[in-house]
Amino acid sequence: MENRTIVTGHKNPDTDSICCALTYAYIKNQLGENAVACRAGKVSAETQYVLDAFKMEAPKLVEKVEAGQKIILVDHNEAAQAVDGLEAATITEIIDHHRLGGLSTAAPLYMRVEPLGCCSTLICKLARENGVTLPPAYAGLLFSAISSDTLYFKSPTTTETDRKLALELAETAGIKDPKAYALDMLQHGSAINSSTLDEICHGDMKEFDFPQGKVTVAQVNVMDGEKAREKWPALKKALQAMVDRKEADTALLMVTDIMAEVTELLWAGKNGDVLEKAFGKAEADGHFHMPKVLSRKKQIVPPLTDAFKG
Ligand code: MN
Ligand code: MN
Repeated sequence: MENRTIVTGHKNPDTDSICCALTYAYIKNQLGENAVACRAGKVSAETQYVLDAFKMEAPKLVEKVEAGQKIILVDHNEAAQAVDGLEAATITEIIDHHRLGGLSTAAPLYMRVEPLGCCSTLICKLARENGVTLPPAYAGLLFSAISSDTLYFKSPTTTETDRKLALELAETAGIKDPKAYALDMLQHGSAINSSTLDEICHGDMKEFDFPQGKVTVAQVNVMDGEKAREKWPALKKALQAMVDRKEADTALLMVTDIMAEVTELLWAGKNGDVLEKAFGKAEADGHFHMPKVLSRKKQIVPPLTDAFKG
């Protein structure tokens, strides 16, 4: 067992999960607590771009924790999204910006959840509250994560706090043109050209257990939605393959065009009627055309949850 407290984000880690883990572990260590940053899965192309930009190493891979392992969850609070073995681990803290998802713990814990656009914004606040000065590289990680989660402030989840702290972090990090850096990062992160179809359909995937079955929601950001359209038939097949393998009863993929600010929601499996209840009438080919939808957390998960609850 790891003697130090593990700090980790969710499975299928995004840039926020990785940057929160690295920076929060740094803060804990500065405060004299023994913590180590971990990750619950593969580093994405976008995150690798960020790590390279600030010459940082990826956190240690931990897919399963042993009973009694002390663990801090960042950027998630649902068991289905967490490392395996969590039920027998000791959660000492939860730092997050998502809805609460029904986790229960054996002992009291420190919990900090705020409705911000990015968990890294909250990590920045915690650094300041605790009097920890972040070195430029960590500031760069947090700025990158905020740019990623908010799609450089375009997502409706973005708050004034996200924007303000992000730009201050960019300055600390010595980033001369924050917008150019952020768009470059998002472009590098787009899995649409660099990943396999199956990887795209699992990109940043979240799982939800509803009485009608397991629903997975993945998301891929693209800079050119028209070009991405050519891949739709193949992506739909890959989603169907996930259903056939019983990975999900309903497999969703948000193809989000950041520039045009529109999501095309592709899906396979059952519960089409529930999806129409959540998102309105589907297009003739079955997919959902969703202008102004960029955020899974704010614009997809709430109507989805409502519809599945009936
Ligand atoms: Mn995340
Ligand atoms: Mn996040």
